[in-house]
Amino acid sequence: MSATIPLMDLKAQYARIKTEIDAAVARVLESAHFIGGPERENFEKEFAAACGAKFCVGAGNGTDSLMLALRAADLGRDFEVLVPANSFIATSEMVTAAGGKPVFVDVKDDDFLIDLDAVEKILSARGHRRGGKIKAIIPVHLYGRLVDMGRLMALAKDHGLFVLEDCAQSHLAERDGRKAGAIGHAGSFSFYPGKNLGAYGDGGALTTNDEALALRMRKLANHGRTGKYDHDEEGFNSRLDSLQAAILRVKLRHLASWTGERRAAAARYRKLLNDVPGVRLPQDAGAAHVYHLFVIRIADRDRVHQRLKDDGIETIVHYPTALPFLKAYAHLGHGPQDFPVSAKLQSEILSLPLYPEITEDQQKFVVSRLTAALQGA
Ligand SMILES: *Cc1c(COP(=O)(O)O)cnc(C)c1O
Repeated sequence: MSATIPLMDLKAQYARIKTEIDAAVARVLESAHFIGGPERENFEKEFAAACGAKFCVGAGNGTDSLMLALRAADLGRDFEVLVPANSFIATSEMVTAAGGKPVFVDVKDDDFLIDLDAVEKILSARGHRRGGKIKAIIPVHLYGRLVDMGRLMALAKDHGLFVLEDCAQSHLAERDGRKAGAIGHAGSFSFYPGKNLGAYGDGGALTTNDEALALRMRKLANHGRTGKYDHDEEGFNSRLDSLQAAILRVKLRHLASWTGERRAAAARYRKLLNDVPGVRLPQDAGAAHVYHLFVIRIADRDRVHQRLKDDGIETIVHYPTALPFLKAYAHLGHGPQDFPVSAKLQSEILSLPLYPEITEDQQKFVVSRLTAALQGA
C-alpha cells in the first residue's frame, strides 16, 4: 500500500511552482548553456546573500563539497577530524576521501547534536595543542538545528582547528543572529531533492567568508583549472550544473516562506504531542530551527514504526545505525559504551512526516495513529 501521508511531498511542492520551474528549465534548454554560465553564477551570488556569507561555490553534490573544503584547507598528511557519531555517512566518509581519519564524538541527549563537552575532553585528553593530529571539526547542524557555534568556534580557535559546517540539513537555520554556513571557516550544503532547498537531481555548494579559500575550492571543483587547459594542480569534476542552478534560483525565492511553514507545522506537532505519554522531543529552543526533520523519541520504536506504516503514514529513522557502529567502521572496534547516547538514540528516534504543504488535519491523523500505536491499541 502506498503511503497516504508521505514523509515529504515533492509533488505537492512542484504543483505550487510549476509555471516558474518550467520557464526556468526552458530558459536553460534554449540557451544551450549547461555547465557554468549565468545561472550558476547568479545562483551562487543569491545563495551567498541568503546565507549571509561572502562567497558561494557550486559543487556536484553535498558529499563532494565536504571533501573539496577539507582538501582546500590543506590539513597536511595523517590528520584527524572530529565528527559527530549521529549523522549521515557522507560526513565521515569524506574525511577519509580527503586523506584524513574521522574521530567520532558522541552527541547530546537533549538535542542529538555533537557534544562539545566531549570535544573538549578529547582535545585535552590527547594533550592536544596546535600541531597535534586533530586538525579540523565538522559540526553537523542535524535535522535543521544549529550547533552552539559560539562555543565551538572558541574551542576551535584555542586548538587551531579548521571548522567545516555540514549544513546539508540546515539551509537558513540561525543561532545568535548568524546563519548556517557563515560562521565556520566553510559551510557545505546539499541540494539533494529532499533537502529543504532541493534540486531536481544532485547539487551542492560551499560557502565561506575567506576569498582565498573560495578560490581554492572553486579550482579543486573544476580540475584544478585556472584556464581552459591550464591546471595548477589535480582536482575533481564536481560542479553545479546550469539546469539545477536555474531550478534552485526559483526555489530559493520561496525558501524563507517554506521555512516559515515548516516552523508552523513543527509548532503544531509540539502542541498536539504535548499530551501524548511516552513521546520525548529534542530541545529546540535557543536556535531558529528549520525543521528539515521532525524527530521524536519513543520506546518500542520498531513496532510503532511498523504500525504507522500499516496506517499509511511514512516515517523514517535518521539514522538506524550510528556511524561508529556501521560495518564500514568495524575496523575501529567501537562498541556502544564508547558512544552511549548515540547507541541509545538509534533505537528510539523516529522522523514524522513534515513538509511545508502538510495540513493540520494530516498532522492530527499522524498524532492520533501514533497515540494508538504507543498504547498498543
Ligand atoms: C544529505 C546529506 C549529505 C550529503 O549530501 P548529498 O548532496 O546527498 O551528497 C551530507 N551530510 C548530511 C548531514 C546530509 O544530510
